[in-house]
Amino acid sequence: MTKYWFLNGIRRRILTEKDLSAYKNPGLLWPSRIEGHGEVSCPVDAISSGGWNSEKCIFCRRCIPSYTPTGDQDIYETEKSDPVFRKSFHIFLVDSGTCGACNTEINSIFAPQYDANRLGIFVTNTPRDADAIVVMGVYTEKMQEPLKRAIEAVPKPAMVIGLGTCALSGGILGKNPLDREVYFTRISGCPPSPYTIIRALEEMRNRRRDGR
Ligand code: SF4
Ligand code: SF4
Repeated sequence: MTKYWFLNGIRRRILTEKDLSAYKNPGLLWPSRIEGHGEVSCPVDAISSGGWNSEKCIFCRRCIPSYTPTGDQDIYETEKSDPVFRKSFHIFLVDSGTCGACNTEINSIFAPQYDANRLGIFVTNTPRDADAIVVMGVYTEKMQEPLKRAIEAVPKPAMVIGLGTCALSGGILGKNPLDREVYFTRISGCPPSPYTIIRALEEMRNRRRDGR
């Protein structure tokens, strides 16, 4: 029963992972970096001239067996800046039109299995208290103004994170809510795995821009 979740967790031995390196878990292949060769039919043109674009890939598995997942879940990019020590890193989440899966995955990093709070990563319910804003989903007209206002409310210089293929490239629907250049960090996946999200946020926490 739901109200006994804490006792059930102990009984089933759900433990917080000490080491969040996904490389060590061979079962976790999707979504991860894809490697292979040859021309394939990709519904979002994520493969062209033999190169794979993680920001376009929707991980539909249609390119198997020519291309296969490697298990490398470091599929994110973050701008370089001087490392600045901080004890905590607060994010504000904006859903500009998701299917719900990106929301589920980022929420899961705060569950007992991953416990991102112990790494100093927290969600805040106001952009005015946020260090960074996380944008998920495709372009939806009604969310343009709220998204703009939320970004403006984050203390300057605002750091914007694009989470998931929809936010980065529009995914299967074809239109992303912000220009790619706006993002300080781009986290690939459809949806991104909790490991990818945590590693990207951890790196950001240590690489905040100067001037804050
Ligand atoms: S998994 Fe699907 S979207 Fe990704 S490269 Fe392969 S065919 Fe394209
Ligand atoms: S990136 Fe994939 S999982 Fe995330 S909102 Fe888009 S379709 Fe859903």
